[in-house]
Amino acid sequence: MKYLSTRGDATPRGFSDILLEGLAPDGGLYLPTHYPKVDGATLARWRTLAYADLAVEILGLYVDDIPAADLRRLVRATYTEAVFGTAAITPLKRLDDGLHLQALSNGPTLAFKDMAMQLLGQLFEYELARRGEALNILGATSGDTGSAAEYAMRGKRGISVFMLSPHGRMSPFQQAQMFSLQDANIHNLAVEGVFDDCQDIVKAVSNDLAFKRRWRIGTVNSINWARLLAQVVYYFAGYFQATRSDAEAVSFTVPSGNFGNVCAGHVARMMGLPIRRLVVATNENDVLDEFFRTGAYRVRGSAETQETSSPSMDISKASNFERFVFDLLGRDGAATARLFGEQVPRQGGFTLDADTMARARGDFGFSSGRSTHADRLATIRRCWQQHGTLVDTHTADGLKVAWEQRESGVPMIVLETALPAKFAATIREATGIDPEPPPGLRHLESLPRRFTVVPPDVAAVKAYLELHATA
Ligand SMILES: *Cc1c(COP(=O)(O)O)cnc(C)c1O
Repeated sequence: MKYLSTRGDATPRGFSDILLEGLAPDGGLYLPTHYPKVDGATLARWRTLAYADLAVEILGLYVDDIPAADLRRLVRATYTEAVFGTAAITPLKRLDDGLHLQALSNGPTLAFKDMAMQLLGQLFEYELARRGEALNILGATSGDTGSAAEYAMRGKRGISVFMLSPHGRMSPFQQAQMFSLQDANIHNLAVEGVFDDCQDIVKAVSNDLAFKRRWRIGTVNSINWARLLAQVVYYFAGYFQATRSDAEAVSFTVPSGNFGNVCAGHVARMMGLPIRRLVVATNENDVLDEFFRTGAYRVRGSAETQETSSPSMDISKASNFERFVFDLLGRDGAATARLFGEQVPRQGGFTLDADTMARARGDFGFSSGRSTHADRLATIRRCWQQHGTLVDTHTADGLKVAWEQRESGVPMIVLETALPAKFAATIREATGIDPEPPPGLRHLESLPRRFTVVPPDVAAVKAYLELHATA
């Protein structure tokens, strides 16, 4: 399998070539040259596999430059009951006939980003060792991504993590989660500023190409193809749990921000998994809902981006969306480059015509909906009262939209993207209940903390990197 760029650069690259990279050189995102089709016999065979073995099969279709035995070992070391809490890894929880939650958030940081990031940790360590290289991961976080990256990379050889977060602004649980890590290769930098200051510093350091090369600076952002590929697996796992044969179809509702999670669903559907609808659920930051309703993709500025009670979906620009549009436009790299390389930066967006949007809904199965803080509270309360199940705020956005869009006879699977304990204040507001973290994590807030406070200053962060980077 080779990879190409959504903006037309067709230089064939292998999986290992793009594993450690971000954007393609022409500014596009990497996609496989084609989606391998899975036939009925294969689906029947995969239906009975354990999660890790299913992941080995799916990854094997996209990775041909890591020996099969090595890939199997890395994947089996990732998806274990010890790390993800159950043998099923992503078990379905039935709410009523035909409506299910799929638990993606039983990993170490209680959010679905662990599903991909844990594998990335194994793949990065393997590939870096194979090349005899080191990598210093620099990132900015307001919560979920940073902690998932730290828990995936802790103790990994050849890798250090430098995670910038706004000093004193993460939730108490998130701070405890990140700052209690004692691993020597994990560095928490608490920046005296807001999240945007953290992100600006990361951009400034990454734009200094000489510095970046000298200190081997890299990132783990959501456009990484390996992350997306790891997420394809749980769509198959959810489908198999909700059906008895591949004559049945299911729909998924996906709480969405950067369009990474639901893009993995799109890939699964392109491979032939019988998915009827992919329902994109947004919060008040409804860039994607607006697109699927109207055909207008209108990027928002940071002033127009609201802070909501489902903060991991507070995005103004969906970084993985370009992958889907490339497929929607019949894989026309020049057209995709015009939209994302010219119209988005110059005019703040673009509008697709009615025929193309009819294909997005028809051929590609997409639909969308949106949810507000009031919807979130009502949904959390209703799910608790009717089903005795507490859901987190992001999952609630999905569930609200799923209730509106479910069709009789078609099982609807809502992806549960975080556990309620991570967003306790809103759960309390909705139900009066204080959601507890899982038993193994209740002691976190009393552990000693390891972090360094730095001024919102690029030079200070560079100086810290020079002292602590892995050579
Ligand atoms: C990251 C995140 C999302 C959004 O996922 P995308 O892949 O960016 O669409 C939703 N919910 C939670 C809890 C998250 O951490």
